[in-house]
Amino acid sequence: GIKIEDVHLSFGETEVLKGVNLDIKPGEFFAFLGPSGSGKSTLLRAIAGFGPDPRGRILIGDRNVVGQSPWKRNVGMVFQSYALWPHMSVRDNVGFGLKERKLPNAQIRPKVDAALDLVGLAHLADRMPNQLSGGQQQRIALARTIVVEPEVLLLDEPLSNLDASLRVQMRRELLNLQRKLGLTTIFVTHDQEEANTTSDRMAVLDGGVIQQIGTPQELYDTPANLFVANFLGTAN
Ligand code: ATP
Ligand code: MG
Repeated sequence: GIKIEDVHLSFGETEVLKGVNLDIKPGEFFAFLGPSGSGKSTLLRAIAGFGPDPRGRILIGDRNVVGQSPWKRNVGMVFQSYALWPHMSVRDNVGFGLKERKLPNAQIRPKVDAALDLVGLAHLADRMPNQLSGGQQQRIALARTIVVEPEVLLLDEPLSNLDASLRVQMRRELLNLQRKLGLTTIFVTHDQEEANTTSDRMAVLDGGVIQQIGTPQELYDTPANLFVANFLGTAN
């Protein structure tokens, strides 16, 4: 699981995370909702180890990872801007993390094929990124992240570039995959329905402060305050 204890993070004078506490269970699918600028990406980046170190503690399993280099954390992250390496084929993009881990080529290939299969793009293995649509690139970025079988999966709006029907399909596949691998997952989305249908629990963030944590049902039935009620559209 992931434990976040009193995490504060500032950029210059501006405090963007103002004391975040979270306890995400092993294998849980946890969704993060909140308006633009509320600190969702900043929090994910702090967990993954990109950007400045926060104050407070971030525990993965029982290791405090604050200050650790990103690749030691065993965290996979799909970024909001999911840049693939433009000079590498799809196959090499997806296999890159395995190559870095010094896996022999004979073992890389089937793993890459399986990951591409999972996102439905095995037929594009030999393309270059600039020959893919935005949605296809997004799915390749997902394949690139899951192929290394991380302990924790951080997804920053990984489906935002997909059309509605593909989005629903990918959402299902993502959830199946998450369950199958037992991956502790944090999923940032702007889409409430997506959060409701996928997550075990969710949190609503505003201004760097968690407004409420609970199951989708709990948040909809008993919003903790007016902000949550308005944000989820349950105020009347
Ligand atoms: P969105 O839904 O638009 O992606 P978000 O919730 O992910 O928003 P963040 O990207 O975490 O928001 O940004 C939170 C705040 O921190 C914003 O006000 C943003 O301008 C600021 N911020 C983020 N990164 C930096 C940075 N590197 N330097 C300075 N300010 C930053
Ligand atoms: Mg963001």
